[in-house]
Amino acid sequence: MPDEGGPGLTARLALVRASIAGAADAAGRSVDDLTLIAVTKFHDAALLRDLAALGITDFGESRHQEAREKARELADLDVTWHFIGQLQSKKARQVAEYASVIHSVDRASLADLLASEEREADGTRIGCFVQVNLTPDPDRGGVRPEDAVALAEHIETLPGLDLRGVMAVAPNEGEPRAAFAQLRSISDAVRASVPRASAISAGMSNDFAEAIAEGATHLRIGSAITGIRPARG
Ligand SMILES: *Cc1c(COP(=O)(O)O)cnc(C)c1O
Repeated sequence: MPDEGGPGLTARLALVRASIAGAADAAGRSVDDLTLIAVTKFHDAALLRDLAALGITDFGESRHQEAREKARELADLDVTWHFIGQLQSKKARQVAEYASVIHSVDRASLADLLASEEREADGTRIGCFVQVNLTPDPDRGGVRPEDAVALAEHIETLPGLDLRGVMAVAPNEGEPRAAFAQLRSISDAVRASVPRASAISAGMSNDFAEAIAEGATHLRIGSAITGIRPARG
């Protein structure tokens, strides 16, 4: 599948939107409660511009340099940048300059670096999701499920950060629905402590229907919209 805009892009986006609506309907939920984040990593800014023309307002990027370049190139667009990739501490402050929401907050030391009295004062707090690792592999991003509440409570104490909820990627093995059910119960535990933090960032191209069934509010969908990602090192 070529990496291009045009009719292919329009058709894929329409199909994804229809599938989201169908999954929401099946789950007895409203599409108004769902935020579609188009994941555009590795794609050129031109494709993002095409998506913005098709009504996409939220972009997800996972690599800092690439994301920063696109945010600069597309500064004329009124869009929200979501950072969804593993975030190195030394890059935290730079990401905070363009990203409105960071889905991959997975340690207290990272939250500390993102905190800012200045943002607290001027009302430009950064939205934060606690990323939870639902696999047994400690090298995957995210806190262990049993540590999610403590990290959420820590973020709540920091200035300039707005805790939105929890985020996860379904493990490669096993049923995505079961993983998202686990994430939902972690979300319940976080909400018991911080009621406002009710968002759930879950669901990608191959599993967004299952995520919607388990309460996802923020869908991170890439290739189903953009077509196959160009390889980039
Ligand atoms: C790439 C990526 C996505 C989107 O994946 P697709 O399978 O292309 O929809 C979602 N979330 C994260 C964290 C990603 O890195």
